[in-house]
Amino acid sequence: MDITPNARTVLEKRYLIRDADGRPTETIEELFHRVADAIAAPDRTYNPDADIKALADRFYARMTKLEFLPNSPTLMNAGRPLGQLAACFVLPVEDSMEAIFEAIKQAALIHKSGGGTGFSFSRLRPKGSTVNTTGGVASGPVSFMRVFNMATEAVKQGGTRRGANMGILRVDHPDILEFIDCKKNNADITNFNISVGITEAFMRAVEADEEYDLIDPNTKESTGRLSAREVFEKIVDAAWRNGEPGIIFLDRLNRDNMVPSVGAIESTNPCGEQPLLPYEACNLGSVNLHRMLRRQEDGASVINWDKLADVVRDAVHFLDNVIDANRYPLAQIDHMTKQTRKIGLGVMGWADLLLELGIPYNSDEAVALGEKVMGFITDTARSASAGLAQVRGAFPLFEESTLKNGTPVRNATMTTIAPTGTLSIIAGCSSGVEPVFAYVFIRNVMDGTELVEANPVLRQLLEERGLYSEDLMRQIAQEGSLAHIDALPEDIRRVFVCAHDISPEYHIKMQAAFQRRTDNAVSKTVNFAHDATIADVRRVYMLAYELGCKGVTIYRDGSRDAQVLNIGKVN
Ligand code: UDP
Repeated sequence: MDITPNARTVLEKRYLIRDADGRPTETIEELFHRVADAIAAPDRTYNPDADIKALADRFYARMTKLEFLPNSPTLMNAGRPLGQLAACFVLPVEDSMEAIFEAIKQAALIHKSGGGTGFSFSRLRPKGSTVNTTGGVASGPVSFMRVFNMATEAVKQGGTRRGANMGILRVDHPDILEFIDCKKNNADITNFNISVGITEAFMRAVEADEEYDLIDPNTKESTGRLSAREVFEKIVDAAWRNGEPGIIFLDRLNRDNMVPSVGAIESTNPCGEQPLLPYEACNLGSVNLHRMLRRQEDGASVINWDKLADVVRDAVHFLDNVIDANRYPLAQIDHMTKQTRKIGLGVMGWADLLLELGIPYNSDEAVALGEKVMGFITDTARSASAGLAQVRGAFPLFEESTLKNGTPVRNATMTTIAPTGTLSIIAGCSSGVEPVFAYVFIRNVMDGTELVEANPVLRQLLEERGLYSEDLMRQIAQEGSLAHIDALPEDIRRVFVCAHDISPEYHIKMQAAFQRRTDNAVSKTVNFAHDATIADVRRVYMLAYELGCKGVTIYRDGSRDAQVLNIGKVN
């Protein structure tokens, strides 16, 4: 298999099966055979004569050519005793001591299996309300989040993945101000991402500069009123300080809830891309767009739409089989997940594709192409799912879903844009729909030597044009951007833009373009320079609302001591 040294390291350290002494007992090729065989097998339940071998070969080829990869839990656990294959879960948190600690236990089981969990804490009674059975005083959602956080800390995910959580609180919960500030200290509640659940009514109150009611979730009565603008400002201010809370638009999530009869969507998974009903799980997978190009005779690259369609059809088949092959950690999750059979097909390598096509990420052309590519993927996925429905039947709740008047489909949702944090390392491409963060890193190796690691698309282009040199690479690493390097021709500087060269407006425009054609949601971080102002953050939060995003997450460079990505240095 042709993979980068980093990909090899990640797979060897975290994905291969090991013996009791920690030595890998499978090769990387064997890993992909294990996954392909396990995920092809469910075809036999629908057709005893199915050619499982041929299907497994096809899945194997898609993965080892790095055209498509399923989410990490599938790579880690398929064909193994644990067998838990999904990345995303949402669990309900009801307002009783029994239910809260039941949810903590359920989350621990999910974390152990490599999945991430999302919760809405909005049903918990506010801090200070009475507890009937004891006459005591309730401690409120934020204090329980700390308990969830500690439980997560204790359960390392089989030594491979640390449990990740999303915590949501509705903006009209009486404890909202405490929630907004609960991660003010960077050392607090570190195993959670937090987002405020925003309603349309709240946004209208912000626009009209009005007050809105705080509602006790138990009594449904108002406990007081707050200025919507002041609360919005507090959210923006906290996000400017260290990136949290994000916001999610609850009414938009529920507008796309295919089965409202079953309940309301109140949370997403940890990184925000997958809204789910309580006890629903979803497995994700991503097409590597960088591999969906072909060279024309004149040497120019163009999108290979036929190949993209083929890969999408195989991916839908693969992800639908994952639902059957999965061993769910709880009976309720098994049941719920198979009622809607949601899958989340997305993309990675989007920025790389743009580089190959010579289109700057921060251009209207790129935004329009994003919408077109994602529309093509969602439409193709839907027709593939309709094809599966003819053989396997529509998802069980189809007749009571909002889709019931259309063509029957096997899956209630098709598409989701995941962050692809690890998948993109394995595939050696840019992550999700993010721009390239930095084009060159200097890696310090043990004996004091420094290795230059350049983005492969940039490196190839510079070599082709006779511009490549180590000195130039060091200069790019140091500056973090190509924008001001005079030695580079203007056409290269214009196209090879990195996350910090792109205005926050273009980050959001791109997110919105993908969102328009994605069934679920889009994982995206809007990167700000360190000196961005609170007004800049406010503008982006409003723009996300105006452009129809389902949520927004921002990060201002240097606003936390430990950040995942740094310009010019390798962690
Ligand atoms: N996730 C998790 N723990 C992690 C990373 C990810 O639970 O350490 C879950 C989480 O639900 C996240 C989802 O996996 O939203 C997808 O993340 P990503 O695409 O980065 O995962 P990959 O498949 O690339 O490992």
